[in-house]
Amino acid sequence: MSVTPYQTLAHNDEFISRHIGPNSAQVEAMLAELGVNTVEELIEKTVPNGILKKDELDLAEAVSEQTALAEIREIAQKNKVFKSYIGMGYHDTYVPNVILRNVLENPGWYTAYTPYQPEIAQGRLEGLINFQQMAMDLTGMEIANASMLDEGTAAAEAMAMCKRQMKKNKSNTFFIDAATHPQTIAVIETRAEHFGFDIKIGNPETDLEGLEYFGVLLQYPGTSGEIKDLTAIIDQAHAADALVTVAADIMSLILLKSPGSMGADVVVGTNQRFGVPMGFGGPHAAFFAFREKYKRSAPGRIIGVSIDARGKQAYRMAMQTREQHIRREKANSNICTSQVLLALMSSFYAVYHGPDGLRRIAHRIHRLTAVLAQGLEQAGVKLVHNTFFDTLAIESDSTADILARATAKEINLRQLGEEHITLSLNETTKLDDVSELLEVITGQAIDATTIEAELATSEGIPAELLRTDDILSHPVFNRYHSETEMLRYLKRLESKDIALNHSMIPLGSCTMKLNATSEMIPVTWPEFGRIHPFAPIDQAEGYKQLFTELQKMLQECTGYDAVSLQPNSGAQGEYAGLLAIKKYHHSKGEFDRDICLIPSSAHGTNPASAQMAGMKVVVTKCDANGNVCMDDIRAKVEEYGQRISCIMVTYPSTHGVFEEEIVELCDLIHSVGGQVYVDGANMNALVGIAGPGSFGGDVSHLNLHKTFCIPHGGGGPGMGPIGVKEHLAPFVAGHPVQPVPETDVSNGVVSAAPWGSASILPISYMYIKMMGRQGMKQASQFAMLNANYMAKKLGEHYPILFKGKNGFVAHECLLDLRPLKEASGITEEDIAKRLNDFGYHAPTMSFPVAGTLMIEPTESESKEELDRFIEAMVTIRKEIAQVESGEYPKDNNPLHNAPHTQDDVMSDEWDRPYSREIAARPASWLKQHKVWPTVNRIDNVYGDRNLVCSCPSIEEYMD
Ligand SMILES: *Cc1c(COP(=O)(O)O)cnc(C)c1O
Repeated sequence: MSVTPYQTLAHNDEFISRHIGPNSAQVEAMLAELGVNTVEELIEKTVPNGILKKDELDLAEAVSEQTALAEIREIAQKNKVFKSYIGMGYHDTYVPNVILRNVLENPGWYTAYTPYQPEIAQGRLEGLINFQQMAMDLTGMEIANASMLDEGTAAAEAMAMCKRQMKKNKSNTFFIDAATHPQTIAVIETRAEHFGFDIKIGNPETDLEGLEYFGVLLQYPGTSGEIKDLTAIIDQAHAADALVTVAADIMSLILLKSPGSMGADVVVGTNQRFGVPMGFGGPHAAFFAFREKYKRSAPGRIIGVSIDARGKQAYRMAMQTREQHIRREKANSNICTSQVLLALMSSFYAVYHGPDGLRRIAHRIHRLTAVLAQGLEQAGVKLVHNTFFDTLAIESDSTADILARATAKEINLRQLGEEHITLSLNETTKLDDVSELLEVITGQAIDATTIEAELATSEGIPAELLRTDDILSHPVFNRYHSETEMLRYLKRLESKDIALNHSMIPLGSCTMKLNATSEMIPVTWPEFGRIHPFAPIDQAEGYKQLFTELQKMLQECTGYDAVSLQPNSGAQGEYAGLLAIKKYHHSKGEFDRDICLIPSSAHGTNPASAQMAGMKVVVTKCDANGNVCMDDIRAKVEEYGQRISCIMVTYPSTHGVFEEEIVELCDLIHSVGGQVYVDGANMNALVGIAGPGSFGGDVSHLNLHKTFCIPHGGGGPGMGPIGVKEHLAPFVAGHPVQPVPETDVSNGVVSAAPWGSASILPISYMYIKMMGRQGMKQASQFAMLNANYMAKKLGEHYPILFKGKNGFVAHECLLDLRPLKEASGITEEDIAKRLNDFGYHAPTMSFPVAGTLMIEPTESESKEELDRFIEAMVTIRKEIAQVESGEYPKDNNPLHNAPHTQDDVMSDEWDRPYSREIAARPASWLKQHKVWPTVNRIDNVYGDRNLVCSCPSIEEYMD
């Protein structure tokens, strides 16, 4: 009999059976359907023998949810939450509780997927267009995207965009204002190194003269707090045919003249201090605002307004043809998963406070800073700058004493060289805190209340730099300021969207599995949330322990020798892994290895990342079975030999099968000194079954937001740590401000924060703790059981494109819809939209093969849910037959008209050859509960032709 989680059900194992969907009776039924006796037998018949892991995972036994929470509570308590005045782009903030509970802690928001199916994603799309509107308003720019991974990456992407945009300027030099945050400089320097750009750092007021350069980055206000009018520098750069990016502090922009009005071409910055916890570095969203004429060249996702089939206004992602999925190595960037949940939180922060509330917050921060400045000057402390918003730099010959007094009071300041200290105030700072800071810095008791009472004006901002234009005047920012209104606005948006709290989301390659509540609980603990990423490391003992333990667990799950936690998405992991490979080759003096082989079936981020790493992409073929074509790889190895840097392969393949030749493939690449990058997106079929580090991989990223239970957040956050073999370990990314143990900053820096989005790592940690040695393996086994059951049942109605040995698939399967399309004119898109009528999100569409759907059920779905989805697909197949037979006209049938809205079926007119019941309630369960798509099929072409990326006007809302 099979080993199921139910045989030895000690109390500690209980979580395993909560995580794994099917119960033992369902497991038996599915095994019988597949004609195998045990899950082990299924695995043996599916996975190549040569790579099958023979021993058990060296992980601890599973612990209960309660025990795991108690253990991680102990870890959290080892972190010390000091008051942070470090600044540098990270500030303490109040997450409005209505947003904390109803968004950040709400699976309706955090378990959603990227809004590629806009008809069932209008809620988060509206939130994202609010985000874009906010970024445009505050920066004074014409258009903005939603969103970027962090400020450093956004600035690096801005540099790349400026180069793309300024083809006539032949210079390869990018100039960075020395007053830029050091982590941003480091991320840009790494990017520049691999693009072949030169970086010059200096004072733009003096050092641009006589220099040839294609772009400039300015920080506004400067990292030590100074505010300057940028107009003259921007004019000077424009006269030299260069573009200017401004990295701006979002809170200061409420009061300061916008970079757009000073002529900036791109404005970037982090949204963290708009109600997103610091989280020891992340996750946070960054904004990227720019001139409209660069829209085709811009990185990331842009949300746009279009119309649906009834002419009603609807949102969707605009100009998707610019994305890496389609353009591969010609893509603008490798951004895939970004930071949707955090972008939404920050936009809701602006919606909730509104322009007046935000002005109040910004004014208070500035006023307290002015009081502090006044108190310091009265006490004879020298301030370095005479302008400021929230940050002061002081010069002192006793910085060590000041820092010692600060530490004694559990306060963190930023030391800048021997003789300077800077400090940044934030939304949570009070007048008492200012008194405390005055005492820490001067050594004397000074009462801030008296100073405040006597301070007539706050003059940190020069009058000519004060903002005079309106911000956030759109109704959405002026309506929901009572908690009742806000709560209902959030609920209204949430209920337009399908997330995992409603039904399975069978997205192949994306692994939409359970994000357990116990895994999520620690994320919002202040011991994880309120730590500045550059806080002294001895205050982060808990984090250190979490990282070390998690690294060990991930090494065990993958067969690698070391793990770097810096990349904050899968695609950033690819970039980080390729850089490690490159540095490794260089360390051996092999500078000519510039070829990256990538099979045609690869995810678009692979070639996009290779291009960012300065490699040349050579595409290799796939055979009729979807396998990488070994003959073609042999030919390419023959042709390029010592020029091969690496191959990027996904395993099991993106076609959902375990290729038998994987070991041979790795050996072949190694035989010419190349490295093997195994894309780890499909680890959900591998954990406990086979380790990429054991069968020949040198490096892999792990999408912790796929296999390791971090929720997708509607399109981020995510984490993409990389596992590496020993020889690559010395070449992983470091950090210039907060040293990462056993790394070297000269390897490069891929994220603004040293451990990426550190505060969501507890999710993966909890998952592995609660699943333990057996549960982790069972997750893979049951993922394959569910996928094979799905393939078997659906295979009776649709061709399954690829199967492995013995006719089994891995953890996902591809339905080939091309023959049906040929016969009936019904497209994969019609089927995807029709699934919405059944309450389902569509599977992955047309990846890796056009005209297919890729289905990945994951282990977390019960047989009942699988059967419902199967019923939906079978019903759809019958409807297609009715189109084929001519019973339904090709242009008037339930598929062509899908999805159906309340407008359709409540309308007095009904001119369709099928009933309203068939339109909207085509399955029995929909009579119990139904999520209505709120718009009809959206017209993408119209939206791209009439590009609108801002909130529609109020009149349009009323239509
Ligand atoms: C999801 C995915 C990626 C990209 O990961 P992100 O976290 O979205 O950046 C890369 N490769 C494959 C096969 C994927 O499925």
